[in-house]
Amino acid sequence: MSGSNDHIGTASRRYGKATIADAEALLRRGGLVAVPTETVYGLAADSTNAAAVAEIYRTKGRPDFNPLIVHVPDLHAATMLGQFNDLAVEFAETFWPGPLTLVVPKAVNCPVVPAVTAGLDTIALRCPAHPVMRELLSIPGLFLAAPSANRSGGISPTTADHVTRSLGDAVPLILDGGACEKGIESTIIAVDDGDYRILRPGPVTPAQLAAIAGKPAATSDRGTIEAPGQLLSHYAPAKPVRLDIETAQCDEYHIGFGAVPGDINLSAHSDLAEAASQLFAALHLAEASEKPRIAVAPIPDSGIGLALNDRLRRAASPR
Ligand code: AMP
Ligand code: MG
Repeated sequence: MSGSNDHIGTASRRYGKATIADAEALLRRGGLVAVPTETVYGLAADSTNAAAVAEIYRTKGRPDFNPLIVHVPDLHAATMLGQFNDLAVEFAETFWPGPLTLVVPKAVNCPVVPAVTAGLDTIALRCPAHPVMRELLSIPGLFLAAPSANRSGGISPTTADHVTRSLGDAVPLILDGGACEKGIESTIIAVDDGDYRILRPGPVTPAQLAAIAGKPAATSDRGTIEAPGQLLSHYAPAKPVRLDIETAQCDEYHIGFGAVPGDINLSAHSDLAEAASQLFAALHLAEASEKPRIAVAPIPDSGIGLALNDRLRRAASPR
């Protein structure tokens, strides 16, 4: 869904050698760069620079109790920032690089500033697969904190165009690497002792995790919000959203799935991975449409469908 380019700001530039060099220079002096990843576009800054991290929170309008994910080039770099037990190593070796974030105890000499982890003694780490993000992470000593590159609480960006619309001139450089392949945020799991808990469903499914751990995830019984994805209203368009709708009303923009055609269809042949990759782009279109309300077709609650329905429930919940 590329659309017209007339609203793309000057900050958005196609990724290449020159733009990577500019990105490095900006990041080194504490600036922000929007970067494509295989999940969604991230708003990256040097996680060891307090002013740079403060700028992420300010630019997104993100509450400072919502910690950020730190991106690393590999497991070796990750172990400089966090403590990995056998199970965490196993998950990293299986799913990295890829859309899995591991929340582990912070390493003793972790150089990441406290604002990144919102003062917690744990840290969220991910090794992304996207070539553009990986190129930035290959710069020695650069650990990048990178939440999604949108205003806090809104729809996540899966194209450079979405970033421009949400953050506009607030970001000096947006590396345009095309549409994100997975299109939905990483699965987040906390690994403590021999157990793991799913904090946010995502492209890596509960069944894939259980196959590696040899057991299902433990249930989260800690009554506190550990990840902002757990906030009830999140990923939300600026219009009311109704779910599980096969026949929409005439004032609703209808997002279809499978046999329910809709104004746009997430996947005509009911492929959940394809639907995930199209979800946020469809919500952006629905938000920009002339219809005052949004309706979404039923989506099966299995595999990646769990992550899709998680995002949709939050998009539909009252603010
Ligand atoms: P975002 O980058 O906006 O997709 O959100 C990052 C996610 O990682 C949020 O859900 C955070 O709460 C979560 N996260 C980051 N650090 C931690 C941590 N130390 N403990 C639990 N969740 C975390
Ligand atoms: Mg986000």
